[in-house]
Amino acid sequence: RMKEGKLVLVGAGMVGSATLNAILAQSVVSEIVVIDANEDKALGEVLDALHTTSFAYSTNTTIRVGSYADCADASIIVMTAGPSIQAGDNDRRVLAEKNIAVMDAVMAEITRYTRSAVLIVVTNPVDLVTYFAQTKYNYPADKIFGTGTLLDTARMRQLIAAQCNVDSKNVHGYLLGEHGESAFIPWSMVNVAGIPVDELPRAFGLSAALDKEKILADTKAAGLRVLKLKGFTSSGIAQSVARLVRAIVLNERCVLPVSCVLQGEYDLEQVAMSVPCVIGANGRERVLEVTLLPEEQDQLAACCESLQKMLLQLGL
Ligand code: NAD
Repeated sequence: RMKEGKLVLVGAGMVGSATLNAILAQSVVSEIVVIDANEDKALGEVLDALHTTSFAYSTNTTIRVGSYADCADASIIVMTAGPSIQAGDNDRRVLAEKNIAVMDAVMAEITRYTRSAVLIVVTNPVDLVTYFAQTKYNYPADKIFGTGTLLDTARMRQLIAAQCNVDSKNVHGYLLGEHGESAFIPWSMVNVAGIPVDELPRAFGLSAALDKEKILADTKAAGLRVLKLKGFTSSGIAQSVARLVRAIVLNERCVLPVSCVLQGEYDLEQVAMSVPCVIGANGRERVLEVTLLPEEQDQLAACCESLQKMLLQLGL
């Protein structure tokens, strides 16, 4: 039987650590079990996090180091284990091979105990790792998804919001497709508080139209920029995971772009990539087929092709 509010976090590195704190801060889970190949690191993170529980607005969450057997009754599993790219590292294929091996080892353990927990994949390259995990282990497709372009979307919203001098939460729209090079913005869906992109200069007193190409380029470059400056990325991805966890625990049915294995939606299959999904207690409750312009549909198909090529190169 699944315990509601029990979450297993695999990976206690930079991302795992920030994710642990972001999830705790939301006060929506009752138990967090941390697993890392480096047991000292896991224990260190757990003890540090436990020291937050006596503060007034912290939930008295049970936080401990555990094992994969803890997955048996967990309702959510978050996968953040495996190395990140380093600044200057340009061989994505090497990272893909390493992290698919890490995911393989982790999935072999998880699926000994459960196929019922909602599994959120963070490990990069997230689209390839998610596809591999779902297909090789036959994990229910609606219960496993990657954070995908949720983080890129947050970055884009922040960039546009800064130009309009409004709250990022009033910027609507998505990056879709790959969490990576081929990601794109369907501009026909972007608006600020309901105001279409082309009306923004008038409505917000901007001196020029939005530079769409620059926004896309800056959004895509943001991760690497942070990585170069501070050595890793953590806050944005941690909030992305925390947002998903909250949507699942509270059955919010909110619409967020996540990387999921497509089974004919948008006429695409044999790929995991980001499209807007309804997220609730059962994970991906629904894949939304949003209205795209013909050229945007082509961009989505191009992402699919690019990802499938990488899957093929990896022998997946
Ligand atoms: P990190 O090196 O700080 O941490 C990785 C952790 O994984 C380490 O603690 C390591 O001991 C552990 N680990 C390695 N192999 C393991 C295994 N087989 N079982 C259990 N634990 C294992 O890296 P990080 O900065 O925390 O990044 C983690 C992952 O998250 C990377 O793959 C990175 O690319 C990815 N990431 C994804 C996004 C996204 O948007 N999807 C954003 C940021 C980072």
